Amino acid sequence: MPPPLHLYDNFTRTLRRFEPLDAGGQVGLYTCGPTVYDYQHIGNFRTFLFEDVLKRVLEWNGYRVRHVMNITDVGHLTSDADTGEDKMEKGSRRTGRTAWEIARMYTDAFLDDVRRLNLEPATILCRATDHIAEQIEFVADLERKGFAYRTSDGIYFDTSRQPDYGRLARLDVCGLDAGRRVDLGEKRHATDFALWKFSPPGEQRQMEWESPWGKGFPGWHIECSAMAQKYLGDFFDIHCGGEDHIPVHHTNEIAQTEARCGTRLANFWLHGYFLLSNDARMAKSAGEFLRVQSLIDRGYDPLAYRYLCLTAHYRGQMNFTWDALDAAATALDRMRHGVRALREAAAAAAPDPALLERFTAEINDDLNLPRALAVAWEALRGDLPPAVRGATLLAFDRVFGLGLAAWEPAVEVVPAAVDALAVARAAARAAKNWGEADRLRGELLAAGWEMEDGAGSYALKRR
Ligand SMILES: [Zn+2]
Repeated sequence: MPPPLHLYDNFTRTLRRFEPLDAGGQVGLYTCGPTVYDYQHIGNFRTFLFEDVLKRVLEWNGYRVRHVMNITDVGHLTSDADTGEDKMEKGSRRTGRTAWEIARMYTDAFLDDVRRLNLEPATILCRATDHIAEQIEFVADLERKGFAYRTSDGIYFDTSRQPDYGRLARLDVCGLDAGRRVDLGEKRHATDFALWKFSPPGEQRQMEWESPWGKGFPGWHIECSAMAQKYLGDFFDIHCGGEDHIPVHHTNEIAQTEARCGTRLANFWLHGYFLLSNDARMAKSAGEFLRVQSLIDRGYDPLAYRYLCLTAHYRGQMNFTWDALDAAATALDRMRHGVRALREAAAAAAPDPALLERFTAEINDDLNLPRALAVAWEALRGDLPPAVRGATLLAFDRVFGLGLAAWEPAVEVVPAAVDALAVARAAARAAKNWGEADRLRGELLAAGWEMEDGAGSYALKRR
């Protein structure tokens, strides 16, 4: 028997054995989704890919996953300190479209990339703007319980009411208060945060709603507490997001839910770590940031990026370079061809039990995908019967998500000039004009093509 699933919980800072709260084996998973004021970059997708692998590992262990992801389409301000502009209104000015139009446009772009990277869709994808009533109700309840106070620009959460505030991030709340006293404004404590913001007087926002406190819009954090509660209940299994969410966003989600429901929201808190880029060339040629589309424009298959992310543990930072992506693309290509050659035979075989057990041990060790990949390569190159190797690899791919079961090589389009050289060379060979045939072969090689001669036929292959 392989060891049971263990996950690193950032709340307790320990590796803990995972067991679902629900005896029936359903796992509640909430992952913070994109703010749809712009495209998501490949660093954002590193986190979404980690969450996808987590989901697949849970499924591998026999659990059914109810996955909720939010779409932040209002209230996320440019500064974490509840100042600055709403990113949606800012995006609206940048693009000349309405906030509602860009929300739709960037949500669609996000979902396109989700498909391109073969991410399993969320069970429930929920927009903040579709859940204003739930958020207002949540804030009203916090106010009734004495956790909220009013300033001239909104309703704020009083973090001093919670002795345990900031535990997820191991925040030094007293130190923060002392250090930031100067720019508190009307806030009572540095860590207090907006639950509801009023529309600025005399200004009509594109996105605003009536509330018991006046016209305005929800703070960013409240949407996750409200929608998680609606779809997963007061306390559920796993909450995920990027590491940048730890000190403010997730800390505040926990504070709100703890204050209203008496629970700390989720049993496990897992975070995906950053993608770094030291490659200056990349930044220059791609403009502001790299998107999945930027990789496609450079001739990469998006799944090469998926493969690259599998080669690094999610709890370590990963450095993005084009060389690393090239290596991932090559490895993926080899794996695809290798599995394709075994696929037909695999249909009639079962995976190798010993390899399955080793694979499970790796992924159950806090999602050690780099080592699980090593087991896959060993399986592919090993000396088990081809059918068994194929079946084993196809089973592993339920977690890798590389689409190995259906992959076919792209049909190579031969440029007309190359084709003309090949025809001329075939004619030269037929006429036993070997000198000319060799010369044409050289020209083909220079153009990047190789000609394989058969009996009365030939094939062209990229070098
Ligand atoms: Zn969130």
